[in-house]
Amino acid sequence: MNIMQKNKMKPKRIFEPKEVLIKKGAVVRQMTLSSSVQFLMFIFFLFFLFWTAQTSCLYFFGNDLVRQRDYQIAELSLQNEVLVRELATYRSRAKGAEALAQSIQETHKDILNKVDELVSDELKNTKDSFSRVSKSLKQSGLSFDKLFQKVYQSQGVGGPFIPDEGNEMMDSVLTEQIGNIYQKLSKLETFSYLKEQLPLGEPLDNIRVTAAFGRRQDPFTGKLAQHEGIDLGAPEGTPVYVTSAGRVKRAFTNGAYGKFVEVEHEMGIMTRYAHLSKILVKKGDMLQIGDSVGLVGNTGRSTGDHLHYEILINKTPVNPYRFIQTKREKNNV
Ligand SMILES: [Zn+2]
Repeated sequence: MNIMQKNKMKPKRIFEPKEVLIKKGAVVRQMTLSSSVQFLMFIFFLFFLFWTAQTSCLYFFGNDLVRQRDYQIAELSLQNEVLVRELATYRSRAKGAEALAQSIQETHKDILNKVDELVSDELKNTKDSFSRVSKSLKQSGLSFDKLFQKVYQSQGVGGPFIPDEGNEMMDSVLTEQIGNIYQKLSKLETFSYLKEQLPLGEPLDNIRVTAAFGRRQDPFTGKLAQHEGIDLGAPEGTPVYVTSAGRVKRAFTNGAYGKFVEVEHEMGIMTRYAHLSKILVKKGDMLQIGDSVGLVGNTGRSTGDHLHYEILINKTPVNPYRFIQTKREKNNV
């Protein structure tokens, strides 16, 4: 087997040892480049190639990168400056808003104080205007305050004040004051309802009392007796008016009362009209204040033409004249 055949048998390597001939003048020298030397030279060449590429890139594009970075820094600084200015503006606005809120709250307080004062005055005046009615009830052992409370509670307006949404922002003192004002307004509403429902109207166009409410000498027996209404003198045929809205409960000739009408109102109140010469309504009729129920007469246990007028609260007779006075004196009920 010759060398050629040997070489053919071996697998070929990348860096085969190579024979190099170096001619120096007439001398020719032979050198062998081993595989490892060749490999080192190849690696060195790769490093050189990579370094050349990097240096070229920095030379051609480096300035652009620096410029881009500087530009970004400048842009960020500008944005920062804008943000700092905006922050300062918002802080100053916040301070302004706080001062405004304070001033609004002060104004709110002033307004509430004025409203509270007005509502309190109105409530006192309204309450005073019911003093006659209150006396009438007291005379008969009834309490106006109890009647008032009953109506006030039944109207469902006496509950605690529940602030609206958003009121959490408000001062608790203001919230409480608003609650008090609402409560006073609710009471005024109740008084207004009482004005509507109590028999404060006048049963005749001209009021002339001929016999008062309470103990008196009976015109027939001469003995002391309880007069449960008032007698109002008027000529026969004078129209008699219902003194508050209601429903006719009874309308007939009723012994001592003669021709008689009884009207049922709200809150357990009844009014009675007796000794009529003529009845103009029938049982079940719905009446509005001022509707005519009949005409003045002298029927039943009566000594002359007059109207016997009664007001009953929960079946207890009260003095009707005080109700008429309430309407007359105050002129605002
Ligand atoms: Zn009478």
